[in-house]
Amino acid sequence: MTYIEPAPIKDKENPLESMMQRFDKAVELLGISEEMYYILKVPARQVTVGLPITMDNGRIKVFEGHRVIHSNILGPAKGGIRFDPAVNIDEVRALAAWMTWKCAVVDIPYGGAKGGIACNPREMSAGEMERLMRAYTVAMLDVFGPDRDIPAPDMGTGPREMAWLMDEYSKAKGMTVNAVVTGKPLVLGGSLGRTEATGRGVMVSAMAGMDKLKINPYKATAAIQGFGNVGSHAAILLHERGVKVVAISDISGAYYNENGIDIEGAIKYRDLNRGTLENFPGAEKITNEQLLTLDVDVLVPAAKEDVITHDNASFIQAKMIVEGANGPTSASADDIINEKGILVVPDILANAGGVTVSYFEWVQNRMGYKWNLDRINRRSDRIMKDSFDKVFLTSQQFNVPMRIAAYIVAIKKVADTYKFRGGY
Ligand code: NAD
Repeated sequence: MTYIEPAPIKDKENPLESMMQRFDKAVELLGISEEMYYILKVPARQVTVGLPITMDNGRIKVFEGHRVIHSNILGPAKGGIRFDPAVNIDEVRALAAWMTWKCAVVDIPYGGAKGGIACNPREMSAGEMERLMRAYTVAMLDVFGPDRDIPAPDMGTGPREMAWLMDEYSKAKGMTVNAVVTGKPLVLGGSLGRTEATGRGVMVSAMAGMDKLKINPYKATAAIQGFGNVGSHAAILLHERGVKVVAISDISGAYYNENGIDIEGAIKYRDLNRGTLENFPGAEKITNEQLLTLDVDVLVPAAKEDVITHDNASFIQAKMIVEGANGPTSASADDIINEKGILVVPDILANAGGVTVSYFEWVQNRMGYKWNLDRINRRSDRIMKDSFDKVFLTSQQFNVPMRIAAYIVAIKKVADTYKFRGGY
């Protein structure tokens, strides 16, 4: 008998495979042709470069960097640059596709892209990081461009790296081109409102969802996993709108108070406590796993991927889940969540507030203009609310959960645009 190699046992689902499962389902429902399926699936361009960098010890180390433009059908491509030891071309390809669907679902005129360098920022000096970022920018001079491909920060990079990218690109072009990258420091043309934009979009999605479920926000409770950029901004903004946030968490554990957590106090505590909620007073300590199954109206996973799984989905009691994190629900949990009648506002919609305000940054840079915070918030709230309504309506029309509806909206938009533009 032939020996058959057993399939590898995976104790964790891959969020990117999870995304493709939902993509395939939406494509099937839309009746997309096989030709169009491959047009939407295969990246438009991918570039891999070797970057020899002189390290502080005088030795030269070669890093591998990638940039993948998944699609530029809707407009210039948009997506972050990740500095992480695990970066590889397959991951970058999948994350680039994710950006295509996210931009399309909120109707922003961008395609999707992603970049990354396999490196460990925690073990590198500022000088080494700067040389690496500048070398990567030079290697990508004919990929990046305000009308071609606009990078942004992602895991391991931030405003500092975006400033180096902008400077290096501008030097090569002989003029200041701040629209080539978003997520820049404010003084270099960054946008007001960008820091809180993703949490704000989560809040708008949660408010819209409560409205559909006829939940009065002043009587509603919420539990929020992750108290970083997305989670803490979502928490304070929901709290300001009357929602009682009964649980928050971070890597140190979860903190529960049935009378409501003092969110402003928690933010101050975290900022004075080296960024962690460890020993946060005024709340009972529970586990992150327990937080997910609390009896609340709104659950916001805003920490990491794959936290709601086949194993714990049946214990979730929340009436709605608003996905602040990317890929927090594995595909195998979808059916259980849907059977329980929980409304899920999916990641590609709920956390798109960040890319929306990045788009505003690019628009302001191109116009040489600076919008005030009020204008930015009003415009991003409107985009988030309109997108929510469109996805909700699509979910009713197709009789599918909002997650699949979001992919339907996004895929249809890109496919229709391609048909008008035409091919060879
Ligand atoms: P962050 O680093 O600012 O915060 C992450 C938070 O999660 C921290 O409080 C951390 O302690 C906590 N955390 C980490 N591991 C955890 C664990 N195992 N259990 C519980 N808590 C844990 O990151 P962020 O920018 O807030 O991003 C959070 C998620 O949102 C990520 O999935 C990210 O990809 C996604 N996202 C962020 C943005 C953005 O604009 N920042 C945009 C779209 C999506």
